[in-house]
Amino acid sequence: MDNEFDIIKKYFTFSSNRDDVFIAAGDDCASVTVPDNKQLVITVDTLISGTHFPDNTSPEDVAYKSIMVNLSDLAAMGASPAWLTLAITLPEIDEHWLSRFSKSFNGLLERFKVDLVGGDTTKGALSITVQAMGLCDKTNILRRDRAEPGDKIYVTGYLGDAAIGLRAILDQLADDNLQPCITRLNRPEARVSFAEELVSYSRCAIDISDGLLADLGHILEASSYGAKISLASIPVSSASRYYFDKYNEGEINWSMLLAQGDDYELCFTASIENDSVIRELAARYGLPVSCIGEITESKSLEFFDANAETESIVATGFKHF
Ligand code: ADP
Ligand code: MG
Repeated sequence: MDNEFDIIKKYFTFSSNRDDVFIAAGDDCASVTVPDNKQLVITVDTLISGTHFPDNTSPEDVAYKSIMVNLSDLAAMGASPAWLTLAITLPEIDEHWLSRFSKSFNGLLERFKVDLVGGDTTKGALSITVQAMGLCDKTNILRRDRAEPGDKIYVTGYLGDAAIGLRAILDQLADDNLQPCITRLNRPEARVSFAEELVSYSRCAIDISDGLLADLGHILEASSYGAKISLASIPVSSASRYYFDKYNEGEINWSMLLAQGDDYELCFTASIENDSVIRELAARYGLPVSCIGEITESKSLEFFDANAETESIVATGFKHF
């Protein structure tokens, strides 16, 4: 195996999971069929070894994360994933690595019924760029600029697990109790199905890739409103609590939970009338969903039950107001 065409054929050619791919990978471009009543929704994210994942991350996890971070962006718009492209830069032809990457990649294509419709294969430092395309209804699209005063603010899952997972890897903490956090870092779960239904009850969402402070900040900036957040309602997993108990003298490090990112959870807003249906939806998906506060007219972000430390995180991590 000595050229990219062999690599593409062997490791990046998968059977189709869809009937809307008009021209699949292999031509100069792919061509797909977009239904008349749908909007095409497009996103792209690059993962660079050593920057977006530790150098020794397994090929299975790299493939998993490279897809999930993109599906998370689609979920944040309420879109259903349909097609991907993959631009991959490899330092060498390592067939063992490629076959493990390829298998994990295809596992997610099959699970989400999406097709890899093209890409680019080059030589250089390891870098993976996945572009994801999805479909949504014109009237049901989740946007950053649709928060309204009085809306409740929700987050899915737990915040900060990925930050703690990264800490555990970098500090080489051999502690099985932190494995759930490492799994959250390497294998984030895009909230795709939940978001597909959430579009009926919410207008406004973002995925938390840079930490709640920054990402909620994007909603507030785009919507021109502020928010009141209850620190006591920020969802913290039992693995994260364990970390703070054991390695931080029992003190919660709010900057890790709110300002570090890689959570790939959703932050969304909804009017109070939809609170009970949102809770039912969450229960149906077995997904923890926490109401953490409310959108306000004032253009500031306020924490109630905040202490001096969190005030300073707000000051540094939240630059919009
Ligand atoms: P071109 O020179 O026309 O850009 P390439 O040689 O880059 O074409 O790619 C040949 C075909 O293989 C194209 O259809 C392209 O989309 C596909 N392809 C290249 N790399 C990948 C990849 N990593 N995954 C999926 N398809 C790929
Ligand atoms: Mg090319």
